Order: sequence, then structure tokens, then C-alpha cells
Amino acid sequence: MTITSYNPADPADLVVAVEEPGAEAVRAAVGRARAAQPGWLAAGAGARSAALGRIAEAVEAHAEELAGLIVREVGKPLAEARGEVARTAAIWRYYAQAPFAPSGAVHETAAGPGLLLTRRRPYGVAGLIAPWNFPLAIPTWKAAPALAVGNTAVLKPAPEATACALRLAELAAGAGLPEDVFTVLPGGAEEGVALVDAVDVVSFTGSTGVGRAVVRAATERGVPVQAELGGLNAALVLPDADLAQAAAHIASAIAGYAGQKCTATSRVIAVGAAYEPLRDALVKALELVDDAACGPVINAAARDRLTDAVATATAAGATLLTGGRAPERDGWYVEPALLTDVPAEHPLAREEFFGPIALLHAAADLDEAIALANDTPHSLSTSVHTRSLDVALAAADRLDAGMIRVNAPSSGVDFHLPFGGAKGAAHGEREQGQAALDFYTVSRTVSVLPGGGA
Ligand code: NAD
Repeated sequence: MTITSYNPADPADLVVAVEEPGAEAVRAAVGRARAAQPGWLAAGAGARSAALGRIAEAVEAHAEELAGLIVREVGKPLAEARGEVARTAAIWRYYAQAPFAPSGAVHETAAGPGLLLTRRRPYGVAGLIAPWNFPLAIPTWKAAPALAVGNTAVLKPAPEATACALRLAELAAGAGLPEDVFTVLPGGAEEGVALVDAVDVVSFTGSTGVGRAVVRAATERGVPVQAELGGLNAALVLPDADLAQAAAHIASAIAGYAGQKCTATSRVIAVGAAYEPLRDALVKALELVDDAACGPVINAAARDRLTDAVATATAAGATLLTGGRAPERDGWYVEPALLTDVPAEHPLAREEFFGPIALLHAAADLDEAIALANDTPHSLSTSVHTRSLDVALAAADRLDAGMIRVNAPSSGVDFHLPFGGAKGAAHGEREQGQAALDFYTVSRTVSVLPGGGA
């Protein structure tokens, strides 16, 4: 079997083809990573910090090449691809400081002389499974903290993002990362299953169904696991909001990168008098979205799934306000769509669909808007558009979401803060920031008592 990825804007362009390595190769790669781990830890904080810093520099030195590769392999608009590369360098640099952070605390004994210490230690080999939609940033926000604290890592990228991941591994090796400290092993489900079965700690990002299977498998083995899954994210718009600004933010969160972000907005909830002006402004804003902002979806199957969903929703009584067609052109494009009155049991209303489509709902007041927003297990990021601080704070208190963004698009992540969903959208420790360093280490308690004698 061969793993291939194609350019979503030009399906005749084969980006990469590599032999699928198979489960045995995964076990061998994990074995090599396990052998390399004690040396990587023993190299010390200074060496680990310097290596991560050099990777940041390598990413920056190849920024335009990497942005071009992201555009070609996953169809991300160029401006967003450049942003992802800059963020990738920033994440390596941020975690380059982490090896010097305190790794524990000193405590008093309850009675008598001695010292009690806590000390965080790495697990060994981290198994990282990534989706295709942020082909450099997600592998980096998993690998950088894992390596900073002294684990080695084996990354299995999504098949659709194989070339980006392999290039990242080359840059890391070129920056002087010792052999087998960070391995990228292309593959699909077979390699993913084998990786979860072999490593000491698992970090997964991807769809909800696959993530739940990964959590079950890792838990069965008794290894720590975190999973960041899909979202069905809402935007709440209050009548006092700057509606022009809200429409622009929401349109970008629906259609930016063709809605293929776990934090994309898929449900817009307009409160009271906001409904009509927001609807009209949003339709206009979505019709103005161009290729520079939206781009294609990842493959033909995704395009067909999205246009079929719009067709079955309208057949079931929904009103299509704009978009939803696949235009006649090369590449896998879907026009950004806005629908109202989608039946509550239709999949568009219940499941993540990962495309430039949103459902518009009316709510009588903030209470109803929050109830609608919370009526999903896929609660990752919710935006709230209002000029009222009271409303913003009340919404932040009552929304079941991992991220609440006031007067900002639901899509958008700060690389140094904990990131993850609520309810069914996540499992385990947060990613990014200090949370990631905690996830990739386990605390040991050390008691040091006097040795006696002289
Ligand atoms: P996916 O679930 O199809 O694949 C994710 C990864 O899992 C890939 O590397 C895939 O090869 C691997 N995989 C597939 N089957 C496996 C198995 N049985 N065991 C182990 N690994 C297996 O997701 P995708 O299509 O690559 O990415 C899109 C999804 O990712 C969307 O649902 C999106 O919301 C989600 N996502 C979530 C976040 C977040 O932080 N919450 C961020 C980005 C993307």
C-alpha cells in the first residue's frame, strides 16, 4: 500500500507518495525512540533548550517554502499558511524555555528532619497522532513540549499531510536533534493503532469517533492519553453588538480555510432584534469570501459529503440563504453556505461537518441562546458578540465550551495558553502552555531523611 497526498486546489498534482510502513515498522521506530530517550534526558536542560531553539530558527529560515508546502498539500490559503508557519516557530521557541522551568517543589516533613521533594519526570516515548488541518502547528504543539521535558517522540501524521510532517522532521534533524529523538512515521489507521499500542504516553487530535477508540485503547493499556476532538461551535450575537464587526468575524470563522478548523463556527445564534440585520450582513459577507480566504476542502469525498448534506437538509425543509454548491472548476471547492430551519435531527445540526457551512438560529434572549449553544456534546470554542461586559461575563460563566471568545471569531488560538474542548470534545489534560508540560510528565515524591552516623 502507498500513502499519497494530492493538492486540493489541483487534484492532478500528486504532492507525495510513500510506502505505508506497517505496524512492525511502528514498533521498531518506538524501540529506537525508547533506546534514545535516556540519552536525550541526560543531555540536560541546556542541550534540549538549544535544540528546540535551533528548530525554531530552521522553521523561520524556511518559512516561505513551508507556507507554500502547506498551501499545496492541504489547500490552506496562503495568508493562513504563513500564519501557521510563524506560529510553529513561536511554539518551538516557547518550549525551548521549558527545560529550565522548575520541575518540582520542596516541602517540609510532617515530623522530624529531612526533605520532601516532588519532581516531574518524562514518561519515555510519546506517541503523537495528528490530523491534516494544521500540518505543522499541531505536530509541533505536541512534539515540542514532549521533547522539552525529556521524552522522545514518534509522530504519525494524517496521510493527507504527510509531506509537511516529513519536511518538519528533516528540519529538526538538520537543526541537530539527535537521531531517533523525533521520528515522523507516515501512515494511516494501522500505524495509528500500532503506535497507541507501543508508546508510554499518547496525544491524539482528530475526529471524535477515532479519538474515542484511541482513548479506549490507551486506557486499556494504562498509559496516559489526551484527545482533542471535533467541534460544532456556536457564535452568539446580542442586539447591542457591532453587527458589522460580528458579521465579518463570523463569516471568517465559517468560511476561513473552508471551515476546516476544529474551532470554525457552524451555528450562529442571533438574539432578538439582531436576527434580521445579522442574517443580511452575514449573507453579504459570505458571498464576498474569495479563494484568498476560503480555499478548497481537503478531498472529493469531503466536497460531496458537504453538498449532499446541504441537499438533504433543504429537502427536509431547511432554507438555504446562500452558497452550498460545488462550483464547476478544478479543485475541491464548496461555496460558503448559510441555512436556517435545519431540522434538529438532521446531521448538520448534530455532528461536526468540517466545511464552510453554518446554521442560523433565532433566540428570544440570552438564556435561550446559551441553552441552544450548549445543546451539543461537541463544545470546543464559542464566540459571543456584545458590547455588554455583564453579558460577556455571564456567557463565559454559563457556556459549556473549552474556549469563549468575546468579540472575536470562534477560530483563533493563542499558542501559549491551554487549548481544548469541553464535554465530548476533549479527553484528558489540555494541550499547549504549561498544561502540555504537565501532561508529558509524571510527578514523583522523593523523601530524603538523614542517613545517620556522622
Ligand atoms: P481523523 O480522525 O480522520 O484522523 C486523525 C488521525 O488519526 C490521522 O493521523 C489518522 O491517520 C489517525 N487514525 C485514523 N484511524 C486511527 C485509528 N484507528 N487509531 C489511531 N489513529 C488513527 O481526523 P482528520 O480528518 O485527520 O482531521 C480532522 C478532524 O480533526 C476534525 O474532526 C477536527 O475537528 C479535528 N481537529 C481537532 C482539533 C482540536 O484540537 N480539537 C484540532 C484540529 C483538528
